[in-house]
Amino acid sequence: MNCYFCDACHYCFTAEQLPDRCPDCGKQMLQGHPAVRIATEAEITDYRRIQMELNEEELRTAEKEATDYESHSYISHGTDLRQSHVRL
Ligand SMILES: [Zn+2]
Repeated sequence: MNCYFCDACHYCFTAEQLPDRCPDCGKQMLQGHPAVRIATEAEITDYRRIQMELNEEELRTAEKEATDYESHSYISHGTDLRQSHVRL
C-alpha cells in the first residue's frame, strides 16, 4: 500500500498502485505532469496525522453515542420500573 498525492486538489490517499487519475478530482494531468504522484515523506506524515485525528473524532463520536445509549437504556429501565410498579 503506497501513499499518493494529487497536485491538482492536494488530495492524499493510499492505493496498491499509482492510478492514472485522481480518485477525488479526476485530473490526469497538471501543467504537463501527471496530477497524481507518490507522496513525499512530509505528506505521508501529514496524511497519517489527519487519519489519526479523524479516528480520534470517530472514537469521540462513538463514545458519545455509547453515552447516549446508556442514558437511553437508563430511561427505558426507569419506564420498566414504573410499568412493574403499575402492574403490582
Ligand atoms: Zn485531485
